[in-house]
Amino acid sequence: MRITLDEETCIGAGQCVLAAPEVFDQRDSDGIAVLLTETPEEDQRAAVADAAIRCPALAIRITG
Ligand code: SF4
Repeated sequence: MRITLDEETCIGAGQCVLAAPEVFDQRDSDGIAVLLTETPEEDQRAAVADAAIRCPALAIRITG
């Protein structure tokens, strides 16, 4: 599984961090999300999918 995060689209809502805290974090300066890993383990798939669904900006894409 590979994830991409569009920082230009992200509005810093933080839903991804709540859904998958082992994969997403937010920058202290502006709240924009950052990926802790671009290739999470398979056991994170459900949490990452939940994050992508919750993201109001549709900034999270999952491939593979
Ligand atoms: S849920 Fe979407 S908009 Fe909110 S911080 Fe995460 S990537 Fe950004």
